[in-house]
Amino acid sequence: MTDLLLRNIRVMAHAATDLLIRDGRIAAIGPNLAVDGVAVEDGQGAIAIPALVDAHTHLDKTTWGMGWYTGRKGGDLQDLIDNERNERIPLGLDVHRQSMRHALQLIANGTGHIRSHVDVDHDHKLTLLEGKLRTREALRGAVDLQIVAFPQSGLMIRPGVYELLDEALAMGADIVGGLDPSSMDRDPKASLDAIFRLAEKHGKPIDIHLHEYGELGAFTLEEIITRTRAHGMQGKVGVSHCFCLGTPDPHRVGPLMEAVAREDIRIFTTGHPSAEVPSLQDMRAAGIKVGMGCDGIRDTWGPWGQPDMLHRARIVGMKNRMRRDDELELLLDTASRGGADAMGVEALGLVVGAVADLTLVAGETLAHAVVEEVARPLVVKGGRVVARNGALALPGITMP
Ligand SMILES: [Zn+2]
Repeated sequence: MTDLLLRNIRVMAHAATDLLIRDGRIAAIGPNLAVDGVAVEDGQGAIAIPALVDAHTHLDKTTWGMGWYTGRKGGDLQDLIDNERNERIPLGLDVHRQSMRHALQLIANGTGHIRSHVDVDHDHKLTLLEGKLRTREALRGAVDLQIVAFPQSGLMIRPGVYELLDEALAMGADIVGGLDPSSMDRDPKASLDAIFRLAEKHGKPIDIHLHEYGELGAFTLEEIITRTRAHGMQGKVGVSHCFCLGTPDPHRVGPLMEAVAREDIRIFTTGHPSAEVPSLQDMRAAGIKVGMGCDGIRDTWGPWGQPDMLHRARIVGMKNRMRRDDELELLLDTASRGGADAMGVEALGLVVGAVADLTLVAGETLAHAVVEEVARPLVVKGGRVVARNGALALPGITMP
């Protein structure tokens, strides 16, 4: 059923109206629409926004729904990577089960699109990808899942991982991942050349984790910008975290943001708890398309997070020192329509002709809806109701 009439909703917090969906797309918006023979949902005056978008997560890592994990350690990035590789199998972290749990919670909380990285390394080879491909198939129609083949343990420093990434992309991974070409791979030119070669071979976009700070990160980012232009890959390259754009030096960061915008490189931000993050307001003002993501949730790396993009938006908003309503509206847009745009997904907003991916949210205004911690009253994917009041409405699919 992809025909649906939503009555008494406030599209983007405007006056109450009706919204008609035909064949999964918005067919009409207006008060008191006269339509027969179509399922009707009463929105009871709730605000309707485009579906929330988790543009950066790791569905294969979460311990959500398992016992509390007590083995988290401190240390640097390499310590955290090693801890996860050592712990994943003894913990019994079944990727299909865990990614289903994580994704279904995101759906119940209004998410219509997810971009998830999946570890590809010597220990697990392509088994984690296989689990996540099953999840993508099981949830088809309920959420759109983009999968990034991610060399979590390194690419150039791990001979054989390049071939595994190549295989992962042939198996159905959507995007070529990368990780700190300078500080992790110790060879930024070779690492980036390999990533761009894979992207060109498979005709797929790129999304690189870049944690490198300061001048080293800026150098790597310049190398990414140069290759994006040289390969004509504008709009096809993403950089996740990009902490170097959070450097408090406007003379360095300003021109870098301009170059990122000019080459239409997308930035994915998560409100990371232990780093200076690039200013969301500055990136959007520079014209950069920005997506927002939950990143890892309750995994071996850290105890924090909820599979809920409004929860994440609050973290990102606090991290960016947001106070004003216009800033919270920018935040909400980045967590929904803007994030879809950054992921290369149709992002028309709630207008006639757009795909009917939307969620109702509680609140008086859009800014209020960001901070109000209330279950989403109704979630619609392609014209089909997939969740109601925080509970899934997906016949045949149960939370594992
Ligand atoms: Zn990540």
